[in-house]
Amino acid sequence: MPEIIRTVADIRALTKTWRLQCLKVGLVATMGALHKGHLSLINHATSECDKVIVSIFVNPKQFSAREDLETYPRNEEQDLTALETFGVSIAYAPPVKEIYGEDFATRIEVGHLTECMCGITRPGFFSGVATVVAKLLNQCEPDRAYFGEKDYQQLLVIRQLVKDLNIPSEIVGCPIIRDENGLALSSRNTYLNDQQRQVAAALFRTLQEAASNLVEGADCREVEKWAANTLKIAGFDDVEYVDIRDGLTLEKTNDINGSKKSARIFGAATLNSTRLIDNVPVEVNAKF
Ligand code: AMP
Repeated sequence: MPEIIRTVADIRALTKTWRLQCLKVGLVATMGALHKGHLSLINHATSECDKVIVSIFVNPKQFSAREDLETYPRNEEQDLTALETFGVSIAYAPPVKEIYGEDFATRIEVGHLTECMCGITRPGFFSGVATVVAKLLNQCEPDRAYFGEKDYQQLLVIRQLVKDLNIPSEIVGCPIIRDENGLALSSRNTYLNDQQRQVAAALFRTLQEAASNLVEGADCREVEKWAANTLKIAGFDDVEYVDIRDGLTLEKTNDINGSKKSARIFGAATLNSTRLIDNVPVEVNAKF
């Protein structure tokens, strides 16, 4: 079983000894309920670093009052067994009071990139993410930290945060891992029954089809409308957004053949109160 560390002092002491030995340290930050998406991040980390820390912390600051903080899947024992199979030696699983003391009073806001998509539909979410990620990076001081492109907007926000605050960790983005139907793996998928999983797979299929329509010259705004409508017909209860944006700046894209050619199509939709997000690149000969 991996060693479990619960305090900031202990994780600092450990990483200090690693740094003295000039070992390269990787961090994979998770909220637990580990699946193959997390595993792929861990694989990237273990292939590039001498030591890998996997943090397991369900961050209350990124949940709004109407979200699923209480019911979010938690199973530390299963996660530790999974980490053992993945060959990870250190799990950093601090309790909430270790991360947010009673007098905790700081909140990090990253501007611009958070002013669209999940930044609008989940007020406070990115501030909660930025605050906890800054803390985890300060506590673990990794050379590299690995984040999934599944949460693409979050990945860009974290890159911006690290740049702006001069945090000396390299942020590495890792590709999205999907199930056999294309559904992006997520801890929240455990909320879905078999029939809902079939509907959920329409999110990826629709974004993929939208991307190929764009490559064939369809109008961006028309494609967004078409995709949102297609998701409703497929059985989603609510479509929060379907947005075609630049993959670096998140500015709305009007012309996918524009100079940067880094357009992505993003979608967020709910199915029986389970919120799912996904994104695909818009590119000629794209392999999904
Ligand atoms: P979470 O536990 O959901 O906070 O996710 C922890 C990290 O795993 C984040 O960087 C996510 O983007 C990443 N992740 C979650 N699901 C996937 C997936 N299906 N493919 C790749 N990365 C993922």
